Amino acid sequence: MRARLHPTDGGRAAVLAELARAPLDLLVIGGGINGGGIAREAALRGLRVGLVDKGDFGSGTSSRSSKLIHGGLRYLELGDLRLVFEACQERDLLRRRLAPHLVRPLPFLFPVYAGDSRGLLAISAGLWLYDILATFRNIRWHRRLSRQATLALEPGLRAQGLRGAGLYYDCWTDDARLTLETILSARLEGALVCNYVAVTALRKRDGRIGGVTLRDAVGGRTLDVAAAVVVNATGPWVDAVRTLDDPAASPLLRLTKGVHIVVPRARVGNRHAVVLRAPTDRRVMFAIPWGEQVLVGTTDTDHSGTADNVQADRADVEYLLEAVNHQFPTAALRAEDVVSAFAGLRPLVAPSGAQSASPSAVSREETIVTSPSGLVSLAGGKLTTYRRVAIAVVARVVAELRARGDRRRFPKSQSHRKPLVGARASNGAASGWAEDGHLRTRYGGRVEELVSVLASDGRLREPLAPPLEDLRGEICMATEGEMAVSLEDVLRRRLHVALRDPSQGLGVAREVAALMAESLGWDETRRRQEEEAYRHRVAEERRRWGSR
Ligand code: FAD
Repeated sequence: MRARLHPTDGGRAAVLAELARAPLDLLVIGGGINGGGIAREAALRGLRVGLVDKGDFGSGTSSRSSKLIHGGLRYLELGDLRLVFEACQERDLLRRRLAPHLVRPLPFLFPVYAGDSRGLLAISAGLWLYDILATFRNIRWHRRLSRQATLALEPGLRAQGLRGAGLYYDCWTDDARLTLETILSARLEGALVCNYVAVTALRKRDGRIGGVTLRDAVGGRTLDVAAAVVVNATGPWVDAVRTLDDPAASPLLRLTKGVHIVVPRARVGNRHAVVLRAPTDRRVMFAIPWGEQVLVGTTDTDHSGTADNVQADRADVEYLLEAVNHQFPTAALRAEDVVSAFAGLRPLVAPSGAQSASPSAVSREETIVTSPSGLVSLAGGKLTTYRRVAIAVVARVVAELRARGDRRRFPKSQSHRKPLVGARASNGAASGWAEDGHLRTRYGGRVEELVSVLASDGRLREPLAPPLEDLRGEICMATEGEMAVSLEDVLRRRLHVALRDPSQGLGVAREVAALMAESLGWDETRRRQEEEAYRHRVAEERRRWGSR
């Protein structure tokens, strides 16, 4: 009999009962990085807070980013110096204290070619400014490289017209897990968090919002929850939730779609993250090494219609392949070489007149808006700066509580001091094999929770889909310790199989479903439904962009 992990919150049913039991100070709608950050900030400041997501945590934009914790070199061009400064500070804090296991330094090469709008000197000046805005605390100082030095570092780069390059540093993360850990950290501080629970209505009295109606997709129940303040942190769905408040509310967002592809690194051959320019429109994008693969992205095109089920299509994939093949001529990648593709929506704030600007020129800054009925909506923001946004939103919530006569003393923000759960010191119980490989990076100090599971059954220590390193036992961690509910939660967000296995994990779907069934008590019908739903989803995605 293998060891089991025990959820510290007593599981979904207990959380839902507790949400309904007594009024909350704050109910956060949306379990992306922003909602997670707000819940953690609020819990740390002593508020009774709940957080719900209609799907899995991080299943919206927060697992579909370029996975960079970065100052945003590109935003220098847009003149967003404050944004760059703040992002650099947050990058530093995440890398050094909050989540060093999840936020890792990454060198970037920015090649410059004859005819580029900015020459080597201009790029170098930009990198100086970037280092200055990081108050010289970035991983290392940038360097300006000659053509020869550039080719020595990246021999596969297109040599024709190459003038040289800038070498600079930013950080790379696992966006889905950074979001999850933020939410697990909020839970540890007392937040009541639950996924697969949608807000279907806002409850009002005398025109003021005083709570929400929730629909639990797992248990099928509907329940009412009272909350003094409701925050709408639903990313691309912000306007949909605003219409629950006021059907005539004007849209806050301009949504743009961003697609990434994963391709074999052996074909591209890059040693660093490399800045690419699309040959057709000169847009900047990245080729980021990811083990034996490379993440290439992103596109940036306007999106209209619902935020649900946004997908990569063939034209997106062709555009990205063209860019990477142009920069690395021997790669000669074709659609059939693509391992996976995924799409996300940028919830950008739509300033008036912005529809005429190109999507890439729309600011990444955030806006916080309170409606006449008291709904606090957050629009915009980046993965990197989520903590700053959370501080501002919770300050607004506290002001709202004060305005209603709440006289409690709330401590000041402490989120900069407290590391996320995985970054807390481990007790050293993890044995040698758990120290190695990807487990430390993925779980940090939480690896010890996994050890008991892995130690109880040798089979669980075997890789699930070699050559990927994800272990079978991590499925138990995902269901029992990380609130995973569906096959997709496990394969796409807790592990990397859906993004990095050429069959998106279809070869192991049955086995994963069986392990989840054992862990979550599914009957045979449910197990089969889960497996079928996953197969269907993968087939649908591949039909949109793939050639297989
Ligand atoms: P989301 O992550 O979308 O979360 C919103 C959540 O609300 C969803 O999980 C959804 O299920 C839930 N929800 C919606 N409606 C309801 C409802 N009625 N009830 C309950 N829940 C609901 N930033 C960086 O810093 N670095 C990068 O490298 C980077 N790259 C990016 C690349 C792309 C292609 C894109 C699209 C964005 C990128 N960003 C990056 C920006 C960043 O990813 C987003 O700004 C951020 O993830 C937004 O998070 P969020 O929590 O606001 O929204």
